[in-house]
Amino acid sequence: MSLESRLERYCLTIATSGREEAMIEAIKADLGAFTKDISVDSFGNVMARFEAAKPTDHTVMVFAHTDQLGMIVTKVEDNGFIRVVRLGGVPERVLPGSVVKIRAHNGSLVTGVMGTPPHHLTPEAMKYVVPTIDKAYIDVGATSAKDVADLGIEIGDHVAYEPRFEKLANDRIAGTSVDDRGGCAVLVGLGEYLAKNPVAVNVVLVGTVQEEFNLRGAALAAEKIKPVAAISLDLVAAGDTPEMGTPNGVQVGAGPVMGLYSFHGRGTLNGVIPHPGLVAHTEKSAAKAKVSLQRHATVGLLTDASYVQLVNGGTPSIDLCWPTRYTHTGVEMCSLDDLAGLEKLVTEMLSSFPATWDSAR
Ligand SMILES: [Zn+2]
Repeated sequence: MSLESRLERYCLTIATSGREEAMIEAIKADLGAFTKDISVDSFGNVMARFEAAKPTDHTVMVFAHTDQLGMIVTKVEDNGFIRVVRLGGVPERVLPGSVVKIRAHNGSLVTGVMGTPPHHLTPEAMKYVVPTIDKAYIDVGATSAKDVADLGIEIGDHVAYEPRFEKLANDRIAGTSVDDRGGCAVLVGLGEYLAKNPVAVNVVLVGTVQEEFNLRGAALAAEKIKPVAAISLDLVAAGDTPEMGTPNGVQVGAGPVMGLYSFHGRGTLNGVIPHPGLVAHTEKSAAKAKVSLQRHATVGLLTDASYVQLVNGGTPSIDLCWPTRYTHTGVEMCSLDDLAGLEKLVTEMLSSFPATWDSAR
């Protein structure tokens, strides 16, 4: 199956943080075609192991998160409107007028729309104001709280953007949760390669959970796997749209991206400054595989590599990315060529990873 068809299937799969079942199923089946050594932990991390060509205790972990952001039902009003909070970094400004799916308590998917005042009657003062999430509500067509209960919807149920996958010009696509289904699609491509081409280290490919919620799912997997190095596959926000003025210089279509510096800058004080040995190995591998490699240093971004790096007394980690526009909306846009380039780059990195890599500084 091609990278594109995998990505399409994953983008159309609903799997919000903490309720990743549908993606766990998909990743388990897809990686399961290439290795029998697959396990799933109690949080839902899917770990697929590929033995080295010669026995070794050195393992490299490559991971992508299976979950997506969304919302959680907090309250049902007497008149049937449904109140929510954000699950992950949903931008409030894209919500009004959008279509959502509620995963009802009984497992069914209920369609709803995010309400917004009728345009013709919106007072001037409200027209250019982004309503905060406490003002947001979902309309499923119910006229009472009982209607909502009859649909199987309860407090705590998860809400997701209506999933989409659109082909655009120049081998670009727009889809729901390209963050991080793009990484998942690459991960499975790596599994296909490793099944036929064992490398000098063991490799564990991990579909991780709860990244959009608290960034800790991957750390649980790393504690178990105890890798000598960890590679995170996740997007980087592109800075090439009209309003951005290239804050980080990252461009869609110009190749995969190596993260040199990420810093959340909003309270967690977390971020990743990658291990210099992994930076050097990435650069060398990009040159060898003839992949044009972009670099990014960005304040405001964070991946779960920032927690993976802190387990097992320190796990050398690096963020490898592909540029994506409109992040955290329901139509994240990227280039399939960049994703293919990322797969090529990481394939080369694993093929040439030294059997006994010394990470000492
Ligand atoms: Zn992500």
